[in-house]
Amino acid sequence: MKTDLSTLKEKCRENYPEMKEFLGRLVEIPSVMSEPEGNMPYGKNSAEVLDVFLKKAESMGFETHNFDNYAGTVTLGSWEPELGILCHLDVVGSGNGWTYPPFELTEADGKLYGRGTTDDKGPAVSVLYALKAVSETIPLKKAVRLIVGCNEENGSDDLEYYRKKQPLPQKLFTPDGQYPIINIEKGMIRGELSTKFTTDCKKYIAEIHGGNTINAVPDRAWAVVCGITVDEINAGADFEIIPQENGVRIISHGIPAHASTPEGGKNALTALIKLLSGLDLDECDGFKAVKNMAELFPYGETDGSSMRLKCSDEKSGALTLVFSVLEFTPDGMTGIFDIRFPVSKTAEEINSTAKNTLSGYGFSYRCIMGSEAHYVDENSGFVRTLLDVYEAVSGEKGHCIAIGGGTYVHNTEGGVAFGAELPGKEYNMHCADEFTVPEEMIMNSVMAAAAIAEICG
Ligand SMILES: [Zn+2]
Repeated sequence: MKTDLSTLKEKCRENYPEMKEFLGRLVEIPSVMSEPEGNMPYGKNSAEVLDVFLKKAESMGFETHNFDNYAGTVTLGSWEPELGILCHLDVVGSGNGWTYPPFELTEADGKLYGRGTTDDKGPAVSVLYALKAVSETIPLKKAVRLIVGCNEENGSDDLEYYRKKQPLPQKLFTPDGQYPIINIEKGMIRGELSTKFTTDCKKYIAEIHGGNTINAVPDRAWAVVCGITVDEINAGADFEIIPQENGVRIISHGIPAHASTPEGGKNALTALIKLLSGLDLDECDGFKAVKNMAELFPYGETDGSSMRLKCSDEKSGALTLVFSVLEFTPDGMTGIFDIRFPVSKTAEEINSTAKNTLSGYGFSYRCIMGSEAHYVDENSGFVRTLLDVYEAVSGEKGHCIAIGGGTYVHNTEGGVAFGAELPGKEYNMHCADEFTVPEEMIMNSVMAAAAIAEICG
């Protein structure tokens, strides 16, 4: 490292009281996506938070630009930027269960609580003050641009809009993931299977409803079975069996997990399908479909083997598959599953295998949504530099990691996630009592400043 960290560390620490105050100002604007109004594509609050951020940057002496309230830029240096740093100012809704007001910055037990403190307003503030620290201490040979978007939480079309107006710098990182560096993000497919049938028998499954989030292991599913009694069902403790007119209602309880890490969950839907497939019912087409689903999506399986999709590679790990949503009636059914696949496969390969397997069982298949895997060479000069910076600033060993989820840079060429969550730490992102830590705000600022100094100095 050519950069002298001690001056940057001192500067960033000096800036902390201002950083905290400015973060408080941003947290107070509930920039959750809302209906578009005039030239505000994500609603009034998202436009306001962007305006406040850019005005602050301007008052600090930086050149700013607002891209029609989709995104904005803060640039240091007057050349084409060599380095881009990508943050977002939109947030998810507050949800329930907060100890502190979600849209106010509260300092308690050494933490700063509020929606957006970690995801991603806190890191955006740290980067803005990193630009300030660098501009006051290090003469740059190349320019750096902070890009702040307003739609990361709802599909990142802010970035799509920006890229139509301006190219993204080739060296690009986002502190909207975790340290040390995420260089691999698996590909993703949301697939739908469906079939129609008629039900004309006495002992049959009338309804199944399970899961309401495609990208999560469902923790609840239920079914109505007609023509049987409670005594005919032998279920374990994860099920409630309730007698009702002409049959029973079965409620299945599981443990939720994100679809990118399904191993930690317990799928209430596939557990229910397994139970249903073993009942003594009339052999109608609906029951056959349930038995087929039990074969294709066995309870406890997360690697897609039964769908003939099992695969893995050394860089990104194994494919995961979660059967997450099912609507089943006497006339037919539609189910949805979430797949995360390794970099060595393409979406087309996965889709064609899924389609073949499912058609063998009489189901139609449709890909609802798909994206290819994202991969950046862990040995590129850019990634090596960021790892050096991480090691010098944090004192920890740096390495690249692969994840099943997608970050803000998933659809960019060569972008990586660099921070801002420390490995193994939980910041209640997207949940109640989201927080950041003052020392980490300072560290994130030093991290960005050192990266800028190394790459643009
Ligand atoms: Zn985020």
